[in-house]
Parts: sequence; structure tokens; C-alpha cells
Amino acid sequence: MAKRKSGLSLRTASCPSCGAVGSMREIVYGMPGRDFDFDKYIVGGCCVTEVDPDIGCVKCDWRGMCGECS
Ligand SMILES: [Zn+2]
Repeated sequence: MAKRKSGLSLRTASCPSCGAVGSMREIVYGMPGRDFDFDKYIVGGCCVTEVDPDIGCVKCDWRGMCGECS
């Protein structure tokens, strides 16, 4: 599988809530497909809110935007 180039490296980002490093995952909305990588992404569900978080923490369940973590 090809490595996806992203401006933000979630692998090295730390959670702004619990401080865990490497626990950040990209949130994908909708139904996960057969080849969905649960190790790399969080399922955001189909309920889209006014402000959709695009990343989340698998340790503390924090949800937020990419700009909030570094
Ligand atoms: Zn966290």
C-alpha cells in the first residue's frame, strides 16, 4: 500500500487531551468498507454534526481538528 502524504504526521502527534503520542487517528465518516483499516482510522459514523472533527484519540476518545494538535 502506498504511503499517504499528509501535512500532519498523526503517528508522531501527541493528543492534546491525554498527551498520548501516536494514538491519533484520522476520522473517516460513513460506513467503513471491507478493506477499512481500523488500525489507521477511526469510524466517525454517519451522523455529521455542525463541526466535524477530523482526527481523534484512540486512548481517551478525544475528537478534534488537525490544527489543534502538533
Ligand atoms: Zn487522548
